[in-house]
Amino acid sequence: MSQKQTLSFQAEVAQLLHLVTHSLYSNKEIFLRELISNASDACDKLRFEALNNTGLYEDVPNLEVRVGFDKEATTLTITDNGIGLSEQEAIDNLGTIAKSGTREFMNRLSGDQKADAQLIGQFGVGFYSGFIVADKITVESRRAGLKADEGVRWTSVGAGDFEVESISRPERGTSVTLHLREDAADYLSTWKLKSIINKYSDHISLPILMRKEEWKEGEEGKGGEMVLTDEWETVNQASALWSRPKKDISPEQYQEFYKQISHDHEAPLAWAHNRVEGSTEYIQLLYIPSHAPFDLWNREKAAGVKLYVKRVFIMDEAEALLPTYLRFVKGVIDSSDLPLNVSRELLQESRDVKAIREGSTKRVLGMLEDLARLEKDESTSDEDKGKYAKFYAEFGTVLKEGLGEDFPNRERLAKLLRFASTTTDTPSVSLADYKARMKEGQEAIYYITADTMAAAKNSPQLEVFRKKGIEVLLMTDRVDEWALNYLHEFDGTPLQSVAKGAVDLGKLQDEAEKKAAEEAAEAFKPVLEKLREALKDKAQDVRVTSRLVDSPACLVVSDGGMSMQLSRMLKQAGQKVPETKPVLEVNAEHALVKKLEGSAHFEDLAHILFDQALLAEGGLPEDPAAYVKRVNALLV
Ligand code: ADP
Ligand code: MG
Repeated sequence: MSQKQTLSFQAEVAQLLHLVTHSLYSNKEIFLRELISNASDACDKLRFEALNNTGLYEDVPNLEVRVGFDKEATTLTITDNGIGLSEQEAIDNLGTIAKSGTREFMNRLSGDQKADAQLIGQFGVGFYSGFIVADKITVESRRAGLKADEGVRWTSVGAGDFEVESISRPERGTSVTLHLREDAADYLSTWKLKSIINKYSDHISLPILMRKEEWKEGEEGKGGEMVLTDEWETVNQASALWSRPKKDISPEQYQEFYKQISHDHEAPLAWAHNRVEGSTEYIQLLYIPSHAPFDLWNREKAAGVKLYVKRVFIMDEAEALLPTYLRFVKGVIDSSDLPLNVSRELLQESRDVKAIREGSTKRVLGMLEDLARLEKDESTSDEDKGKYAKFYAEFGTVLKEGLGEDFPNRERLAKLLRFASTTTDTPSVSLADYKARMKEGQEAIYYITADTMAAAKNSPQLEVFRKKGIEVLLMTDRVDEWALNYLHEFDGTPLQSVAKGAVDLGKLQDEAEKKAAEEAAEAFKPVLEKLREALKDKAQDVRVTSRLVDSPACLVVSDGGMSMQLSRMLKQAGQKVPETKPVLEVNAEHALVKKLEGSAHFEDLAHILFDQALLAEGGLPEDPAAYVKRVNALLV
């Protein structure tokens, strides 16, 4: 047996403890939720490890959590017969925070107590929340499979260090004893504890037991009181929420369950609960959150769905159950067909999992379509109407990844997309809306990609579209150009970038305009030749365009080519990009362009024209100093 040793908390834990004990008073009761959730996790872990080693049950197969208190000692104890902790595990798991999320947690603290208390759950630092109500915590535990005298006692008053010593503990599992602070004495009440359990932990599939209370008459002349008996009773429903019939579950229960599994304090936007029958049988309970988690962009940690097999917890973050672009979805899938010892590798190959994945993807898209429908439904509340916009603001960018990832559902996804356009700055225009507003004779859905909204809106390429009153979608998400590579048309209408290829306004241009343009181009030919020669190192070609109204020139890339904006982005990210030269298009009507003919400064003007076009779409001249010199020479 080892001696009692005193160890220091990892610096971050100490910092966190300070915070927990000094500022999180407003929502104290969450400590119980956190400790019960740990007890439940410990039982899940035992069940899972016991799949390959039934000896771990030690002849006590019924897993449960007991919540008891001692009024005299002012202690509250949460006991589970789950996996337990070895001495080393107690030191590691209760003395350090392994997760990198903690730093993130610290950074996100707002100073607002209520919000901060919620964050504790979200970032998985739940155990330490015990110190909100306790000035000392004692944990006694023995890991399943170890000998009775290989137990451990861990004690801390929540300051800089903790003590551990070996103890003998015949029972497997863990008991956490909170020595309550004076101002937390109201937790020494069956009624109070039951109501908290009911609020937060009702759906836990394990039974949570408390001692039965009994009315005891007072001595003669004195009033009676409730006293604890030795009999334990189950105080929660103790059945997995998703396995109950829908009609027996209230919206509040669905929401509370969501909060529990997602560690999100905001209610979800929508959920779907179904029992799927057929060749593959499973239960799905899927939620769409109302806001993005801090690590949404981490495609590595790319799943929010837990896998159960016949109510037995198998794994968190089972990425095979939904495609990566739906990684924001939270929930539970409970399969009746998969083997209990299924591994992540097996999941990838399983036909049942493939069916679950397809079914769940359809379900999520269906939920999103329902939200989108509410948007246009006159009879729904304002709150419901705003839900899709809220969803899209948080997750729209991730959803776009689906265009490249989920070929079979591309059309459904395309309908769910929303964009800003020359008619509105908010991403609210669907492709269907756009089509409905298309001008007579318009044959394409026009869009432009840019780094920022301002760059998109002020882009010279839009001029002729503005003049003719044609709407253009403005795309400023980093994924837009990549995603649009996978979407060539919508409902029979091609999508066309206004910054790629020659503009062909087709039927939108009348005969007179076309003729005038052709004549102008013809007359301009000799100048074009000279421009091509002057700019042959910079531009692939120079041509006359009808897309410009106020600007003298603009740059375009060839149809199917990578936009200059994307190529800049990739270069910044250190990627190799094939060097392609853009095409310079000039507005033969513009005064500056007209000046070219016969100018003594032709070369300088030509280069200025090119560099300005580059500046206008967010690029930089190759040789900025030379550009400035040329402009200055002309100014003087
Ligand atoms: P999380 O539950 O997110 O991992 P906590 O701070 O709630 O974070 O718990 C920290 C760790 O302490 C757990 O991951 C687990 O290893 C250990 N732990 C806490 N409570 C128990 C328990 N009742 N039984 C076994 N291990 C526990
Ligand atoms: Mg926890």
